[in-house]
Amino acid sequence: MPDLPAWRGLVLFDIDGTLLRAGDRDHQAAFVAAMQQVYGVPATLDGVPLAGMLDSQIARLALARHGLTAEAIAARLPAMMALMGERYAAAVARGSRRDHVLPGVRRLAARLRAEGFALGVLTGNAEAVARAKLAAAGLADLFPVGAYGDAAWERGHLVAAAQAAAREHYGADVDGARPILVGDTPHDIAAARVAGARVLAVATGRYGVDELAAHGPDAVLPDLGDVAAALDALRAMAGPARYDRERVTPAACRRVLDLGETDR
Ligand SMILES: [Mg+2]
Repeated sequence: MPDLPAWRGLVLFDIDGTLLRAGDRDHQAAFVAAMQQVYGVPATLDGVPLAGMLDSQIARLALARHGLTAEAIAARLPAMMALMGERYAAAVARGSRRDHVLPGVRRLAARLRAEGFALGVLTGNAEAVARAKLAAAGLADLFPVGAYGDAAWERGHLVAAAQAAAREHYGADVDGARPILVGDTPHDIAAARVAGARVLAVATGRYGVDELAAHGPDAVLPDLGDVAAALDALRAMAGPARYDRERVTPAACRRVLDLGETDR
């Protein structure tokens, strides 16, 4: 029987500014329309910081300006997030936004999976929006699990949720090593620190390499286009390949090696 590939760990990618170009007007339009319909106030996102923020945090900031209490916001937040997801999904078609994928993303994801990394997303996007966004970009199969911005009030709290989702999906213990986050803002770096994760910062969003480096990520790159450099950084964070026959089942290895439409 050939040696089974070792689990190298879990890599969790941010979406906006990391996998996809930042600044999604359809997301913002769905956000505003859903707030209006569910809360009955003309809340906007004008002046609300968006980069690296959770949709739950953005909603709280936008709605508090209209006098809503934290309790009133929280009570209707699930309904608002669901409606935003419906509106967003209606605005984008599956596969229609392949050109929004940032350079190197598909090749890097395929290489990571071939090396036995389990992949997921850790994003501020509400789950319904994130799933529609990944499907529109043709990335849904590569990032089947994750933790989303309607599941917590703080980004750092999403790491444990993403680990639990990965454990469930990949059918094995993927968090023997510390998880690795990949993100484009200081919020991604802070979330990793809070959760005891490692983090690769990429300057493909609104922050430059020097700004990100000042927050002390484990590594920082201008983008993921240099796939070899990104792989080197992630391998170094993951440490040596592990193989534990008790924890890594053949079925789980087949799942992680099921590449799908990736290598281009
Ligand atoms: Mg981002």
